[in-house]
Amino acid sequence: MFDDYLHRLDAQSLRRRLRPIGSGTGPVISLEGRPVILLASNDYLGLATHPRLKQAAIQATEHFGTGAGAARLISGTLPPHEELETALAKFKGTDAALLFGSGYLANIGLIPALIGPGGLILADRLCHASLLDGCRLSGAGVRVYRHRDGEHLRSLLSKRRTARPTLIVTDGVFSMDGDLAPLPALADLAEEFSATLYIDDAHGTGILGANGRGTVEHFELEARIPFHMGTLGKALGTSGAYVVGTTAAVQYFLNRARSFLFTTAPPPATAAATVAALQILQSEPERRVRLWDNRQYLYTGLQRMGFRLCDSQSPIMPVIVGDPSLALALAEQLLRQGVYAPAIRPPTVPKETSRIRVTVTSEHTRAHLDEALTAFQKAGQAIGLI
Ligand SMILES: *Cc1c(COP(=O)(O)O)cnc(C)c1O
Repeated sequence: MFDDYLHRLDAQSLRRRLRPIGSGTGPVISLEGRPVILLASNDYLGLATHPRLKQAAIQATEHFGTGAGAARLISGTLPPHEELETALAKFKGTDAALLFGSGYLANIGLIPALIGPGGLILADRLCHASLLDGCRLSGAGVRVYRHRDGEHLRSLLSKRRTARPTLIVTDGVFSMDGDLAPLPALADLAEEFSATLYIDDAHGTGILGANGRGTVEHFELEARIPFHMGTLGKALGTSGAYVVGTTAAVQYFLNRARSFLFTTAPPPATAAATVAALQILQSEPERRVRLWDNRQYLYTGLQRMGFRLCDSQSPIMPVIVGDPSLALALAEQLLRQGVYAPAIRPPTVPKETSRIRVTVTSEHTRAHLDEALTAFQKAGQAIGLI
């Protein structure tokens, strides 16, 4: 059974394999013993290897040990967890925040806490897999609306039985396409149809908005969004996730989200490092400036070469290839040229949209980006794509 399945995946160019990197994440990593430029990390601001985060993690470990020893509600709430929740709420300008072990856990806990059988979920077609799993787990009916299509969402809302509890589910920044949800339109529709809007801001957190607070700040919707979630493993450089909102919302989730209740608290080191990340985010806005400059430079360069790019508005810039085997070939060619940017294939993305998901960070230099562009040109020509 195992072998048959794996052979079938191989035959369709859909088999996945691990590729360990021999260094910390960064603009240049060690892969199979040689340095390559990394265009695949979500550590957008280079915080995962920042000395102050490392120091905070070391100090918290010295003080509190390596593990929290229990779930948060038993005896697992330590000072770094409380400091982080206070810091997150302050950063986001909300009353309260609640920490989760990961974004995946947050989504599969929060969504079923909000809606159950009898309810209706309307989700963007390109929602992250963890959101879809949370939707399924809730037992509510799930309908998918066309990607970023407020009009399609409106028509689904109009057709629904009235008084049926409804949740609208979307990414803030779509993780595989790099485009933004039309949050103002979604917020309007949620209000008009008395639905609840659920935003996953995994990729907006730390990089979007005047202060890096995320997609909700970018669209200036803070006053209208009662709660939203995001993750800490991307621009914040650590791991975990949060939900922020009113005190009542957070207390509700604390009592109801099973993936908060029934899991060991995150390590104190991770929480302490995230507090440091939030401080750096606010004291070093130049990181965001470098990130967006780099993003523009690479996007324009790839576009000029004739690659087919998504309508991205973020440091995620997928180069669409189409066929999974062609995407693998392009990734292999890029690696030969010293650039690591892996192929993303179904079921992560829809059929016929296999791609190289390129991400850039604030830590890439112009020299890195020029080298990467040269690699793309050679690799694209080698497989006849450009
Ligand atoms: C990465 C991601 C997640 C999962 O977060 P983890 O902390 O890695 O589990 C959830 N939602 C979106 C949109 C993501 O991009």
